[in-house]
Amino acid sequence: MQIEIKEKVYQNFINKEWVESGTKESIKSFNPANKDEVVGIVQNSSREDLEHAVQAAHNAKKAWRRLGQAARGQFLYKAANILEANLNDIAETLTREMGKTLPEAKGETARGIAILRYYAGEGMRKEGDVIPSTDKDALMFTKRAPLGVTGIITPWNFPVAIPIWKIAPALVYGNTVVFKPASEAAVTAAKVVECFARAGLPAGVLNFITGSGSVIGQALIDHKLLNAISFTGSESVGEGVAKSAAARGIKFQLEMGGKNPVIVAKDADLDAAVEAVISGGFRSTGQKCTASSRVIVESDVYDDFKEKLVAETKKITVGDGLQEGIWMGPCASESQFNTVKKYIELAKSEGASLVYGGEALTRGELKKGYFISPAIFEDVKSEMTIAQEEIFGPVIALIKAINLEEAIAIANDTKYGLSASIFTSNISSFLEFIDEIEAGLVRINAESAGVELQAPFGGMKASSTGSREQGEAAKEFFTAIKTVFIKG
Ligand code: NAP
Ligand code: MG
Repeated sequence: MQIEIKEKVYQNFINKEWVESGTKESIKSFNPANKDEVVGIVQNSSREDLEHAVQAAHNAKKAWRRLGQAARGQFLYKAANILEANLNDIAETLTREMGKTLPEAKGETARGIAILRYYAGEGMRKEGDVIPSTDKDALMFTKRAPLGVTGIITPWNFPVAIPIWKIAPALVYGNTVVFKPASEAAVTAAKVVECFARAGLPAGVLNFITGSGSVIGQALIDHKLLNAISFTGSESVGEGVAKSAAARGIKFQLEMGGKNPVIVAKDADLDAAVEAVISGGFRSTGQKCTASSRVIVESDVYDDFKEKLVAETKKITVGDGLQEGIWMGPCASESQFNTVKKYIELAKSEGASLVYGGEALTRGELKKGYFISPAIFEDVKSEMTIAQEEIFGPVIALIKAINLEEAIAIANDTKYGLSASIFTSNISSFLEFIDEIEAGLVRINAESAGVELQAPFGGMKASSTGSREQGEAAKEFFTAIKTVFIKG
């Protein structure tokens, strides 16, 4: 009997055509709020498919470079308009595929549109600087040149915004792209690529290929025609990306995990701090690289803060993110769900005390998904695993500090350095924090998870290779500088 497949099958997009993988194999993408629901089906591509994609990007690079920045920007305006017209559909797919709530998914899609427009505008901005030469009869200037074929590999937690904040600058500055999304969110990614495709990009400028990271992701990084790679994902995979790219001498950029601290000083506005910790720690089910995971509280206000935090956390509604009134969705996948549960058990066995939550929720409809209640631990010591490793789930560790100096030392006691926040009303405290904290994003009286598209984004220490994304910073990665000297 022929089984009817009702879910849509998404193909690879190579050389301006939607094509089936040569393997004829596919991967199902499931809804983490309802494991029985298949959101869509994508290709399980092979190295051979990847070869076609890279070759297409290579063949397209000269004409795309020669088109000029202003003309390239026009394609991004078109893609932005198409994405805007499809915002509701793409946001709903995002929620069904990785579980964040619909308002969050709409917010992320709207961010994608704004990023596209920002980089479309770059089409009309300067490509270099004139620098005075010591030779009065010469003209010397810099000119930004594209790198060529750029590989883009992304995670599943922001499947609209992260691909766009890499693809848009890559394209406007004249690079061609091979984009490999996370398998857990490849259907959403395919819908984003559809918007670029419908904007009419020339053949080979943007190529999209789905499948296993260890097969086609690795083959992409190792490909001899690849000129640069921009990767966001876990530290363990990032390390391999860096080694392969460095061995071949190509430009690479990695943005990875975080173990982001929030310091609550004794002079903080506790209500504001509670609100920010809940939003930073539990929105997107704690699956943001900038999520608040360690909350370091000065002893004087510890009990008050904890009481308020627990009271507010109890109000969080957990369920299918498509439903109104739901504040927190499921973990994005079974493996993520198991990881979170494993860390909760580990925390207990290492001596941390579970104050609230941390339970798999299985009542009624919830048993169909990977739901967990938001967890708060106390009696956490900085050397414990839950204070050191990225959990990527709704788990907050409360750590007591005797004073600000100790709080900052604890905040820095991690290999990561992505985002960090402090709540204080004392100017000298936050000035000290700005100076001393080891983080790429430093947030005062604001939650740790918050990014503006026009500002540089990225981490320090093991969170990043030190380059920055978004805003003007993207130009530094996606271009090389030619210093031109013309003798009259
Ligand atoms: P991941 O497992 O590292 O995967 C990231 C991407 O790499 C996916 O597309 C994956 O493909 C691919 N990949 C896997 N193995 C590969 C290999 N050997 N060679 C090349 N590519 C490979 O990360 P994730 O679980 O998707 O995302 C969560 C992580 O991303 C967290 O650590 C989070 O902190 C980090 N993150 C960082 C930022 C930031 O800007 N700093 C933002 C968001 C997320 P498959 O899906 O097919 O395995
Ligand atoms: Mg899924």
